Amino acid sequence: MSSFAPPIQRLVTELSKLPGIGTRTAQRLAFHILRGDETEAAALAAAITEVKERISQCEICFNLAEGPRCRICEDERRDTSVICVVEDSSDVIPLERTHEYRGLYHVLGGALSPIDGVDPDDLHIAELYARLAGDGAGVREVVLATNPTTTGEATAHHIADGLRERAPQVSVTRLASGLPVGSDLEYADEVTLGRAFAGRRAL
Ligand SMILES: [Zn+2]
Repeated sequence: MSSFAPPIQRLVTELSKLPGIGTRTAQRLAFHILRGDETEAAALAAAITEVKERISQCEICFNLAEGPRCRICEDERRDTSVICVVEDSSDVIPLERTHEYRGLYHVLGGALSPIDGVDPDDLHIAELYARLAGDGAGVREVVLATNPTTTGEATAHHIADGLRERAPQVSVTRLASGLPVGSDLEYADEVTLGRAFAGRRAL
């Protein structure tokens, strides 16, 4: 099937496991590495090893962290009265980029999906409830920012029910689903337009 020498084939196989990288791209990358000088290849290999050695999950919010706690949990200027719940740590970055939000996060590690065998116990849901236990640590709002997909919506509803029961003093909100900025109504699909209509607000 492959005419590459085994070490090259191994590199192609490993690269093609990366998201968005097909076999052709993996081959191109492998040959690029092969042609480049040794220090560059060593730097790439070292960066991969280092990120796995030094980066782990924050003990409070499960965001990526260098050390026991992430930068956001360590930052004293953050508003500790709001927790934004997201599916993955990669969701934190675009939310931070908006500069709209100054609160804390809670990374679930996925979304509920019974078909794929993802149950509440597989996500960091109990840890979220634990953060709100007792006096609620001064939290007054939990923003459910799971994806607007079937599994994301199911996860948001599951957590909203759980919070109503366990922490009724906390207000639970969901990100608005709106229209893309700068586009015309006639180009919006009916689901997006329907959501935007349902989520309309007073001016
Ligand atoms: Zn954290």
